[in-house]
Amino acid sequence: MTSDPAPPPFTDQLLPGSTIGILGGGQLGRMLAVAASGLGMKTHIFCPDPQSPAFDVSSHQTIASYDDDDALKKFAHSVDLVTYEFENVPAEAARLIKNITLLAPGVNALETSQDRLLEKRFLESLDIAISPFAPVRSAAQLQQALEKIGTPSVLKTTRFGYDGKGQQIIRSPEQAHKAYQEFSRRELVLEAFVDFECEISVVIARNGHGQIEPYEPSLNVHKNHILHTSTVPAGIKASVSELATITATRIITALQYQGVLAVEFFVTKNKTGDGSTSPSLLVNEIAPRVHNSGHWTQNACPADQFEQHIRAICNWPLGRSERMADVVMQNLVGGEVNLIPQGLLPGDHPHIYGKAKSRPGRKMGHVNSVSPLSGKT
Ligand code: AMP
Repeated sequence: MTSDPAPPPFTDQLLPGSTIGILGGGQLGRMLAVAASGLGMKTHIFCPDPQSPAFDVSSHQTIASYDDDDALKKFAHSVDLVTYEFENVPAEAARLIKNITLLAPGVNALETSQDRLLEKRFLESLDIAISPFAPVRSAAQLQQALEKIGTPSVLKTTRFGYDGKGQQIIRSPEQAHKAYQEFSRRELVLEAFVDFECEISVVIARNGHGQIEPYEPSLNVHKNHILHTSTVPAGIKASVSELATITATRIITALQYQGVLAVEFFVTKNKTGDGSTSPSLLVNEIAPRVHNSGHWTQNACPADQFEQHIRAICNWPLGRSERMADVVMQNLVGGEVNLIPQGLLPGDHPHIYGKAKSRPGRKMGHVNSVSPLSGKT
């Protein structure tokens, strides 16, 4: 048996009664805190927003900005381990914390996934298929990128993009130059537009001892750039599902990752010699955290992604990840949350985030609708 090429970040096991610090107090932090509490852990949420939904369910709270070093130090000293619910935690904050206490996932995974260029280069280094891309740091480089990638393409900021923010579809060079100005000449990347058949993702966990548990891929449909539904079974070929799982396993292993990670894919149609088509996969992006497209696991798997993340970062044996029901996760965005509880069917499981105010486009909750296993893939 061969051992991992690089050592895992740490192998200490956190016991019930320990305190887990969570950077970020949104719905993911809230559901992580509930899962941690179920395993006998206390949680300390660090978030600048005084109305953070995770504050309702945590033992300790710090309201401070992510660049407040004094608050970060105090927070790090008060907990046994720190994790995060979003990838835009400043790397300096993560490093400061790591010098004081345990941090999982580690700084390397955070830095790789918060910069689209670093992420793409990392994936290329593993020979994992991605859409052709070119960096754009100047008007001259934009011109070169357009010559290399062409149109249609997608111009994206390398950092801080989410739910379709920080990106624009480019159909002509003129439009590209206009978008470049609109992005205030930030560091960008031009990506070839993928005419995908569908989008899927794999949520996968790894603990510090190298144990890995992938969940089944979900089929993800977006509405107004926001995830609308995740459906499992995804209705894709078994070979595509297997390739997605293998790819996610290679990524989580190469990162020596500790915690739950999501890998988003485009399923594309490749033309073959005889004119027929065969689907193949391109990785779109990696999220170093529990993920919206993994919420279905809450009502369809023995150990859901939130429990699994806590088990992984605490170096506990991971739970089983197989699916026990067919499931559709639907996000409740803005006023849609007010439809609950009317019309709920026995198989519908609502998860409401307790956010103080609903705004158009704001994720307020989700419903997992489960039905008996169909045996489909
Ligand atoms: P991202 O922030 O990179 O996950 O992109 C958000 C969404 O935009 C994706 O889920 C796709 O629906 C779409 N998208 C992003 N990049 C591309 C691309 N290169 N080609 C086609 N659609 C894209």
